[in-house]
Amino acid sequence: MYAIKLELKLNNLERTLMARHSGYARFCYNFALSLYQGVKEHRGSSSKKVAAIERVFTNHVKKLPEYQWTTTLSSRVYKTTFRHFGEALSRCFKGLGKFPKFKRKKDGDSFTVDAADWNHAILLLPQKLIKIPTLGTFRLKESIPFPCMAQTFTISRTADKWYVSFALKAEKMPPLFHPVVETVGIDLGVSTFATLSDGNCYESPRPLKTAKTKLSKEQWRNRNKQLGNSRLGVKASNNARKHYRRIAKIHAKIANQRRDFLQKTTTEISRKYAQICIEDLNVSGMIANHKLAAAISDCGFYEFRRELEYKSAMYGTTVELVDRWYPSSKTCSSCGHVQSMPLKERVFECSNCGITINRDLNAAINLARQSNLA
Ligand SMILES: [Zn+2]
Repeated sequence: MYAIKLELKLNNLERTLMARHSGYARFCYNFALSLYQGVKEHRGSSSKKVAAIERVFTNHVKKLPEYQWTTTLSSRVYKTTFRHFGEALSRCFKGLGKFPKFKRKKDGDSFTVDAADWNHAILLLPQKLIKIPTLGTFRLKESIPFPCMAQTFTISRTADKWYVSFALKAEKMPPLFHPVVETVGIDLGVSTFATLSDGNCYESPRPLKTAKTKLSKEQWRNRNKQLGNSRLGVKASNNARKHYRRIAKIHAKIANQRRDFLQKTTTEISRKYAQICIEDLNVSGMIANHKLAAAISDCGFYEFRRELEYKSAMYGTTVELVDRWYPSSKTCSSCGHVQSMPLKERVFECSNCGITINRDLNAAINLARQSNLA
């Protein structure tokens, strides 16, 4: 387990809320301890006694009119407090700690809330906001360092500052080192999805290509079908309806496959390489070329770059954007000579030094060289 502790930025109302919950936790702990002292000498395991005390609290104490205030507060607080009390007892019996003591207000404020189980764990995004189960969303002084999942949240006060801390699952931890430390350049293309300057490349998955072909066939064969026309009073035919349902299904399938491919690729790259250099995509230039614009939006280049960027915080990588005007595909990666390279030419043949190299690989190597870190 790995824990993160961040300072909360609370207003007066929120401070009061946190203080009330801390008081509630203290009350429950002391309640459990006083009842436990009464049954300490009786037979039975301590965990059974604690469970019985919790039942008394839930079924009787919470229902008394003088304890009505407990119903306005998060019920997760007393659940976690009784759990903590049980843990304190077992630590004591193992000789790891002293017998629990009554909590006093001057000892400080703290309490724990949790999501019911890991399936309800909270997704935390790198922003200055945090969602705490059963309490709501609160502002933070600094943002969460990387996207992660957490189930248990402890809120505590030190002097007049309030903090939230949460533990992360080990497998969600960022790796401690990257197998490759040299800067890697990535060239994105329509024919090969991503070419890396060390010679590795990522192809769009085959099923994605098949699905795309299937989609264009389906659309071409039914090019005259209309889903009705309300202005002309034409009703949609059953066959047209079926056709549009099929189209929607293929679209959904393609979207899922693409999402899956992009997620896997960006995770793999972020785990392997420490420094990534990627072209800043030229939006206006792409829109000027309609055919290219369609192909590019289709490939998910923006999504690819976005995922690399947000995963950089998670995996400790650096993602550098190379100036969009840098002619990465027109420059020779061997001698620096610049020549024109029409899109259809797949191989870079330098007219200066005579080197022949794959167009995308040449561009990727140039991108890696543009890094300011190297
Ligand atoms: Zn050359």
